[in-house]
Order: sequence, then structure tokens, then C-alpha cells
Amino acid sequence: MATELLYLTDAYLTEFDGIVVAVRDGAVALDRTAFYPTGGGQPHDTGTLGDLPVVDVRKDGDHVWHSVEGGPLPSIGDLVHGVVDWARRHHLMRTHSALHVLCGVIWNEWRVPVTGGNMEPLSARMDFEFDPLPEGFGPRVEQLVNDELAADRPIEVSFLPRSTAVMDEDLIRTKVSMIPESVPEIRVVDIVGLDKQADGGTHVHTTGEVGRIRVVKTESKGKGNKRIRLEVVDA
Ligand SMILES: [Zn+2]
Repeated sequence: MATELLYLTDAYLTEFDGIVVAVRDGAVALDRTAFYPTGGGQPHDTGTLGDLPVVDVRKDGDHVWHSVEGGPLPSIGDLVHGVVDWARRHHLMRTHSALHVLCGVIWNEWRVPVTGGNMEPLSARMDFEFDPLPEGFGPRVEQLVNDELAADRPIEVSFLPRSTAVMDEDLIRTKVSMIPESVPEIRVVDIVGLDKQADGGTHVHTTGEVGRIRVVKTESKGKGNKRIRLEVVDA
């Protein structure tokens, strides 16, 4: 049985009960989980399952595996209580949403697509197809992003049939076609009026909840590939 991914519909859920469906070397799979597994550029959650600290979360096939420290491990069929470390998760949600705002701003202002990225709680890097970076880029993009954060735009999550999603202009821009055809329904994260992407990550409710960003550094990673390092700070 596939693990039900509770974070897809409620990113603010921090406690849940699940039934152990599989156990392997130091890790437990449940029928449902609120723990986010590493993927889509967003690192995994931490927290506890019962009394055991959760130190890593990975998706493998249909199951989400929670690596725990100590023991003994629960057994198949046991009901366990999971608690997600909310401080870390919320920092990651703020950071992830900030990166979508950055993508939207850069597309609107310069029509340049993103090529890659990675995030940690309250810090991130993203690469864009600039060549070269425009004059005064760092302070300018910081201002534009912070304006959008201050505008407190709603961030909405919805699920679209694949056939509808692939016709959506904004989703085409963010490469919805890269999603395997076997996926019948596509999860969409819409920062209303700014940026819309197919995305499996966890996000805050509005851009105001992000706070502000600070551009720490810009650097060239080669032709047509420029890196922006940023941190997320309280407004
Ligand atoms: Zn994302």
C-alpha cells in the first residue's frame, strides 16, 4: 500500500497517527505521513515517531521511509504517533515559497528561466540562464522579491488533471511536460498573480509569511548559468 502523503494537502499538519506497513534496517514505512521526504530541492523533515527521533526521510517507490535512531523499532501493524519538527519545516516552507517568488520575479522582469537550485532552512541557491547578469542585478532582484513578499499574495495549492495542466501557459513555461505521463493528476502551487508551478513541496499560505530575503552573493557558474545565493530573514 502506498504511503498517503498528508503534507500535500496540509503543509501545516505537524502531528498524525499512522500504521506501520513495513520495517527495514533502521527505518519505518507508514500508511500515512506528515513527514516530507527529500525531493524537489526541498530537504526532509525531522521530528519523532513515538519516542524515536526521525533523522532522515526518503521516498522509495510507493513508500516514505522514516529513518529513526535508537530502538526498538515498532512492528508491522503498530499504530505510531508522528510529530514533525515545526521550526525546521516552517523555515523550509518560507524558503521554498521565497524561491518561487524569485522565479516569478526573474521571469517577469528578465524572461529568464531557472536551471536548478537547492535549499536549506532559511538559505538557498538558485541558478538562472543569465548571460551575463544585468548591471546592478543583486540589489534590484532583492528589492523586487521583497516588494512581492510585502504584497502578501495568497499561495494556493490545487490538483489538476494532467490533460488540463499541460494546456496551462504558466505551467508549460515551468516545464510541466517533464512530469511522467503516468502521473494522472498534477499538484499546482500558485502564487496568485506571480508564479504558477507544478510542485510537490510544502509552502506557506501567503508571501507575507516568508518575511524578507537578502541576496548574499551572485556568481557565474559558466556560460548561461548564473547563481544567486540568498537567505530568508524575518520581515
Ligand atoms: Zn518548488
